[in-house]
Amino acid sequence: MNVKVLVVGPYEVNCTVLWNDPEKAWVVDPGYDAEEILSVLKENGLTLGMVVLTHSHFDHISSVNKILEGKKIPVYMHRADEQFAFSPMNAMPPYSPTEKPELMKFDKDDGDVLEFGGLKAELIATPGHTLGGWCLYFKNENLLIAGDTLFAGSVGRTDLPGGDWDTLTASLLKLKVLSDDTRVICGHGPGTTIGIEKKNNPYL
Ligand SMILES: [Zn+2]
Ligand SMILES: [Zn+2]
Repeated sequence: MNVKVLVVGPYEVNCTVLWNDPEKAWVVDPGYDAEEILSVLKENGLTLGMVVLTHSHFDHISSVNKILEGKKIPVYMHRADEQFAFSPMNAMPPYSPTEKPELMKFDKDDGDVLEFGGLKAELIATPGHTLGGWCLYFKNENLLIAGDTLFAGSVGRTDLPGGDWDTLTASLLKLKVLSDDTRVICGHGPGTTIGIEKKNNPYL
C-alpha cells in the first residue's frame, strides 16, 4: 500500500491519498487545496477511484466536488453525518455549504469493510466528535485513519453540533483495543501509534 499525507487548508487537515492499484486510488478527507490533491494524483500516475470522508466537518469535505472533476466516483460517509454535512450550518461565511456529490454512498456502517483497488479497510464507527464519524482501519497494513476522533496527545472536541463526550469516550474504547503498533494518521497534526497514545494520552 502506498500512502501520502497532504496537509490541506487553513485548519491543516491531513488528507490521505492511498493506492495499491494506480487506476483505483483512494482519497480520504479532501478538505481544501483541490489543486494540490489533484497534482499528487497526477505526479504519481493515479486515477481517483473512491473518496472517503471520516466525518462531515467542512474542513474535511470542502474540496470533494473539485477533486471529483465531474466524474461519477463514489464518496463514502456515515449516514448519521449526512444531514449536517451539506447544511448551511456546516459552512464558514462567506462560503456556501458543500454540495452533495452525485454518487454519495451511505450504505456502510460500523464493522463493514470497504474493499477497492486491492486495499481493504474496516470501518469503525466512532461518533462523539460528530454524529457519524468513523475511522478507517487497514488491518493488513496496521494503519488507522482516525479523522478527528483521536489526535497525538488529545481527542476531538465535543462542543460542536452532534458532539457528545460520553459517546466519544465509548468510541475511544474501540480504538484502544487495536494493537499497540497500529500507526495512526490523525485528522490534524502529527501521526502517532495506538501504543504511544495508550501511554501518553490522558483521554485513552
Ligand atoms: Zn471535525
Ligand atoms: Zn477537523
